[in-house]
Amino acid sequence: MEKELVAIEVKRHSLAHLLAAAVLDLWPEAKLAIGPAIENGFYYDIDFGDVKINEADFREIEKRMSHLLKQNLPFVRIEKKIDEALAEAQASGNPYKIELIEGLKERGESVVSIYSVGKFDDLCRGPHVESTNKILPGSFKLNKLAGAYWRGDEKNKMLTRIYGLAFATKAELDDYLHLIEEAEKRDHRKLGKELDLFMMHEYAPGMPFFLPKGMIVLLELIKFVREYSYGEGYQEIRTPHLLNADLWKTSGHWEHYQEDMFCLHHAEDDIDMGIKPMNCPAHMLVFKRDIHSYKELPLRLAETTTLYRNEKSGTLQGLTRVRSLSQDDTHIFARPDQILSEISDLLQKVKNIYNIFNLQIDEIHLSTRPESFLGEKATWDLAESNLKEALEKAGLNYQINEGDGAFYGPKIDVKVKDAIGRQWQLATIQLDFQLPQRFELHYDDADGTQKTPVVIHRALLGSMERFMGIIIEHYAGALPLWLSPVQIKLLSVGEKHIDFCRQLEEEFKALGLRVEVDDHNETVGNKIRKATQEKIPYLLVIGDKEMESENLVIRERGSQDNKEMKKTDFVHDVSEKIKLKQ
Ligand SMILES: [Zn+2]
Ligand SMILES: [Zn+2]
Repeated sequence: MEKELVAIEVKRHSLAHLLAAAVLDLWPEAKLAIGPAIENGFYYDIDFGDVKINEADFREIEKRMSHLLKQNLPFVRIEKKIDEALAEAQASGNPYKIELIEGLKERGESVVSIYSVGKFDDLCRGPHVESTNKILPGSFKLNKLAGAYWRGDEKNKMLTRIYGLAFATKAELDDYLHLIEEAEKRDHRKLGKELDLFMMHEYAPGMPFFLPKGMIVLLELIKFVREYSYGEGYQEIRTPHLLNADLWKTSGHWEHYQEDMFCLHHAEDDIDMGIKPMNCPAHMLVFKRDIHSYKELPLRLAETTTLYRNEKSGTLQGLTRVRSLSQDDTHIFARPDQILSEISDLLQKVKNIYNIFNLQIDEIHLSTRPESFLGEKATWDLAESNLKEALEKAGLNYQINEGDGAFYGPKIDVKVKDAIGRQWQLATIQLDFQLPQRFELHYDDADGTQKTPVVIHRALLGSMERFMGIIIEHYAGALPLWLSPVQIKLLSVGEKHIDFCRQLEEEFKALGLRVEVDDHNETVGNKIRKATQEKIPYLLVIGDKEMESENLVIRERGSQDNKEMKKTDFVHDVSEKIKLKQ
């Protein structure tokens, strides 16, 4: 696996050279900057001067790249004295290569390597494929143009970045292209708009507005969280959004996390305050309010209020990367001897929850003690062996990220795969030996001494906004019945059927079902088409026949056929499915 990864990265980077060679062939005046391999492909940043290129030029560039591939050209490494290379770069008038070589010189390099493929030379550290025939025909494709500042600095010149995709084989590339196409169709930002779930506004970047239908989904998710993520033994609380800087100083956020927080100065009280990016510090205060006996532990404080994080504008994305978020957040205050049972319980919850959403657990990582750590080694050893034991008992495969834990405690991360095979990081279970110390938390132990509890930070869905974005894409907008904002739509055939629709609507509503009536003066065909786009689980066409019988004609989502069913059976079926979270 590791080796394959290296090999594909080398291919991707080698393709960046071929891209540059093809570009220079077509636009000899272009000035090359840098061309690394990236996830799924490569890019090259190029200064085209006054020339504007567009995606229509990709075909010609690709043709020339393919031509270079076919010639089976070797990549040849040439070493040059740095001053010689610098003089050449100066002669060619390429300011980017000059800057790169000068940088190397400042760092004390005396020799640089140049790689030559065909007639094209480029300053590069390597490695590359031995020769171009190692790259299979059809295994790459140029896919995107973007502007990119030289060295990522907006004070510098904006260059043109040409992106390419590259895989080991054409089949792998095709699979990936198919995945992108599928992902675009499922994009939750697009579906969120089409299904009236949420909106975004320039007045609140990264902070979604949930519309009535989206709010139904969010509230159902919160209900779900209360039952499946919290459950027995969890106590929900609500703490303030705005808290004095002194609290954030105690927790360490003021020093280490302030850039990611929204802060303000309260003029009247003359104090700095921070809007909470996490619930932890406030929960520490709640724990500290009382004297706790060892018998009261574990204490599990849960909260789903909205948190605010000052994520960078460039990283914001629909619901999946936001500035306002609510988590299924809990802080478990436990004795060291309770870690095993708590983690076991959490892993059971993780399995149940993802099973309900048909999300497949893909990877679990256990991050362990780093070189510099807080607390006793023995405490860490015990905690880590508890985490391992819990994972093994739960029958879950996991990888150990040795030494990759935070300095204050080991952690379990769970990644899932969605319906189209994309990976998402969801649950985090983080042990914390530090925060209870910073807040001087204690409990009275059985032997009469005061001990510091361990805190477990845990979120199983992660942020509910992000989770909603993920499942919208996972289900391609066709949310399961229990989550659907509208579960049943009644379609009246004609005007005389509207009253009957209204009666049925009341009946269904009284049973707790979410129903809508389409009584527009339109054909049934049109109404079905519209409701299908709305991805409503059940459509009921109401005409003369339905008014006269005890039976309903039902069209289930995804089916082209209608089926006839007794009303009582239909209601029973639907209610059962909702109960089973289907
Ligand atoms: Zn290179
Ligand atoms: Zn926390």
